[in-house]
Amino acid sequence: MEKKNNEISNGVKKDLPKAYTPEEYEDKIYEKWEKSGYFNPDICVRQGICKKDAKPFSIVLPPPNITDKLHLGHGSTLAIEDLLIRYHRMKGDRTLWLPGTDHAAIATQNVVERRLLEEEKLTRHDLGKEKFLKKVWDFVRITQATILKQTRKMGASLDWSRQAFTLDEPRKKAVRKMFVDMYKEGIIYRGERIVNWCPRCHSTLADDEVSYKEQKAKLYTFKYSRDFPFAIATTRPETKLGDTAVAVNPRDKRYKKYIGKEFKIDFVGVPLKLKIIADRNVDMKFGTGTVGVTPAHSMVDWQMAETNKLPIVKVINEDGKINNNFGKYSGKGVLAAREMIVEELKKQKLLEKEEEIDNNLSICYRCGTPIEPLPSKQWFIAVDKKLKRLGNKSLKEKAIEVAKTGKIEFIPEGFTKKYLDWMENLHDWCISRQIWFGHQIPVWYCGGSEKFAQLKMGFHKDVAPQIFDGKTKTYRLRDHGFKIGDKVLFENSQTKTLFGYGIITEVEETTVEKINYKDSTHYIIYKSLKELIKALKLRNPEKTVTPKSKAYLYAYKFYPFTEKDAKDGCGQIMVSTETPKKCPACGGNNIEQDEDTLDTWFSSGIWTFSTLGWPDNFKNKKKSGDLANYHPTQVLETGYEILTLWVSRMIMMSLFALEEIPFEKVYLHGMILDKHGKKMSKSRGNGIDPIDVINKYGTDAVRLSLLIGNTPGNDTRVFEEKIAGYRNFTNKLWNISRYIITNCESPITNFKIDQKNLTAADEWILGKLALLVKNVTKDLENYQFSQAGERLRDFTWDKFADWYLEIAKIEGDKSDILIYVLKNLLILWHPFMPFVTEAIWKEMGNNNLLMVEPWPKAELSRAVDAKEMSLIKDIITSIRNARAENKVEPGKKVKALIYAGHLKDLVESQAELIKGLRTGIGELEIKEKGPEIKKEIHITIDSSIVEIYLIGAIDKEKEKARIKKEIANLEKMISATEKKLKNKEFITKAPKEIVKKEEEKLKSWREALKKLKG
Ligand SMILES: [Zn+2]
Ligand SMILES: [Zn+2]
Repeated sequence: MEKKNNEISNGVKKDLPKAYTPEEYEDKIYEKWEKSGYFNPDICVRQGICKKDAKPFSIVLPPPNITDKLHLGHGSTLAIEDLLIRYHRMKGDRTLWLPGTDHAAIATQNVVERRLLEEEKLTRHDLGKEKFLKKVWDFVRITQATILKQTRKMGASLDWSRQAFTLDEPRKKAVRKMFVDMYKEGIIYRGERIVNWCPRCHSTLADDEVSYKEQKAKLYTFKYSRDFPFAIATTRPETKLGDTAVAVNPRDKRYKKYIGKEFKIDFVGVPLKLKIIADRNVDMKFGTGTVGVTPAHSMVDWQMAETNKLPIVKVINEDGKINNNFGKYSGKGVLAAREMIVEELKKQKLLEKEEEIDNNLSICYRCGTPIEPLPSKQWFIAVDKKLKRLGNKSLKEKAIEVAKTGKIEFIPEGFTKKYLDWMENLHDWCISRQIWFGHQIPVWYCGGSEKFAQLKMGFHKDVAPQIFDGKTKTYRLRDHGFKIGDKVLFENSQTKTLFGYGIITEVEETTVEKINYKDSTHYIIYKSLKELIKALKLRNPEKTVTPKSKAYLYAYKFYPFTEKDAKDGCGQIMVSTETPKKCPACGGNNIEQDEDTLDTWFSSGIWTFSTLGWPDNFKNKKKSGDLANYHPTQVLETGYEILTLWVSRMIMMSLFALEEIPFEKVYLHGMILDKHGKKMSKSRGNGIDPIDVINKYGTDAVRLSLLIGNTPGNDTRVFEEKIAGYRNFTNKLWNISRYIITNCESPITNFKIDQKNLTAADEWILGKLALLVKNVTKDLENYQFSQAGERLRDFTWDKFADWYLEIAKIEGDKSDILIYVLKNLLILWHPFMPFVTEAIWKEMGNNNLLMVEPWPKAELSRAVDAKEMSLIKDIITSIRNARAENKVEPGKKVKALIYAGHLKDLVESQAELIKGLRTGIGELEIKEKGPEIKKEIHITIDSSIVEIYLIGAIDKEKEKARIKKEIANLEKMISATEKKLKNKEFITKAPKEIVKKEEEKLKSWREALKKLKG
């Protein structure tokens, strides 16, 4: 091909720089994309890029935490999702990728607290809530801006017009609505439970926010006191101050006689009341076979206490210190108290054994502080409560069902089991956090939250008015536990509004048949027991009522609310999306909002639909607007480490709010590791800042290093040399394009192929391209991104650059095919490396954007395996290899004689390529067959049908000398090694592997020598 003028007809400059310089293109290209509006599917519909009724393809970006700038793990998320999005946009789908950031409540508060302490030596309490939150927001604005800038740098084609933040106004509204709806359904409740408490963060943690650290711990075996009959063992003697029972296995003969007995003892100066209880889970072989039960500080013991109705004594407080009422231990830290108690036990000669054991310490995943299990009043989501809207299934059951039936598919598939295992063991989810930054719980208390602890009794809405009319007694089927003199708030069970309180005057435990149903203080008099049972059944539809059923009678003196109650606060709870102005029960305005904030996963759990306009877009169970167009989303792509923390919660929340799944597929990528397979972390200093490497190598190189070699569920190693390698590849594509652009004759925006006069090589490359389109499309549909990238790289570098471009130089006049292949390659590569492909597209003279060029359809009629061309390629490659193996000087021209059998005509037709493509052949003779030629290079290919002789390739004298030299060299090395291996000192002292290696070397040299001599 001949070089044409400097300018061609459509105005493309023919001289492109030799190296692609990302910094000159990337920001400008991103700006152009953004200005085009094509990131927004509505604009794509308006401009005819996709049809209005096109299939939707939506992804909601996992919102990165605003605690810090993005790391390479986020880069991986962005690269994978942008690849999917660009592919689907080019395919013509109605494609939405929705951006946002996460306020990450506890994590963000921790970062700001730590800084405050480091820089100003202040705690958040020193500063106060208002000032502290201002600091948090200042911090948030800075990191958020950095994150958004980084995201753009990665080339992410996100629809910025729909950007969301988990703590912005629309999301606040959604969070409140979700809370209120769940509360009304009775699956959000407040209760006292054991929670994981971090004394440093001063907050509860979800079960999966607890990390574990292996450590050595001491196991102490001791008797509580002299007058207690046997010993127990524990690693935490300080918690034993709160023991209220000792559990033994009912089959354990040693302790059987004690079961049911109660002991009043003095334990290191603190009085304890211990009941001996039987529990089948007690391991008779572990320690002494007995377990001190500490209900307040162990999940397991808490359950034992519930079954055995044991009192709960809280020993450790929220600061991790011993509570008041524990004598000299009060106010001491946990470890200090432990030491004191062990000393005391020693002094009293009660300590029997002290041994070191391996122990798994629970620590806070945010700050590493040991967790204290504590009883605490918190808000929970009941995961086991059956819900009408879920077909009488619980959230847990429904969330399991959608995975089991394949409604939600996990990629890779192995994560289905992980998800199900976790789901099946899920407990009620504690959603309240004692931190300041986040969504404050939308619950208000009339008179303050302390009033919440008050006793309460519900009355059916029909019964409530009777109390004003003089009803002073009530029969119940369950034990409310009230005592005479108790003040009990009365609530309308239907409206959940208080209407006064009663002071209990009489309590009686009885059975239904013994109730005096003619007692007029009960207000309604029944004619018969049957009638009473009927009435009881009506009020308690979930219970079976028989004459023998237990019944509890409470008589009371009733007091409606007065102005004083209104002033002090009546205890009414208000759960509402709007801040209430006055109390609906007493009319007062002494109202306080719950101080706690919601677990950060609550707001990110509703992310798929809170970002699409819920709740406004969801009326009467009907979706509209974005919610109708894009929910359920097609895929959630995220790191496997948040499968349980986040993915599972999104599934439950969406099932509750919309009664549909949030996404059809969950694609889980692995972690990004360093060169040596270690996790990247700040403390190790082995992290890579995405912006640093983007500045150095360009975004496309960084994206490729995150996409190729990265398979679902598996960790990927990324390091600078790897990124540099992909920078070289980006350059390769640039140079291929540069060659085509500067040499092509036809207008470069004409993509038609002249079908006439196609050579074997043309048919071959077009066939391979058709196959490439087919396979890459299939790979992307199947989420096999790495495989697609490898195919593309192989085609670009090997088939197209190394073969076809070289062939084109010989055969000439290929502009149309080169441009056609290049165009398709740019489209196929675009989702992987959007910048360089868009840059080349522009340099070709195209005025539109590559990002919305339609995805090619595979021309399958072309995808025939071009056998001819593979044979010619084999001949050429084997000649090149033979020359290299025989050390033929590169510049030396040789004669080739080919016996091609029945393939003679075919080979002859491609003689020019065989001679021209770096084979160094001066003269080429092709025959059907002929005699064997000795002492020349001889190659056979294609099952020996084709034989090739390279005549005169070997300079016989030179070769002889070379062999002689090599023999001498080998003999020298062999004798040296033999000597070494006879040396006893070496044999005994050297590591075995070294000796073995020497022996192996010797063996291979001897073989080589034999070959040369033979
Ligand atoms: Zn913590
Ligand atoms: Zn009130």
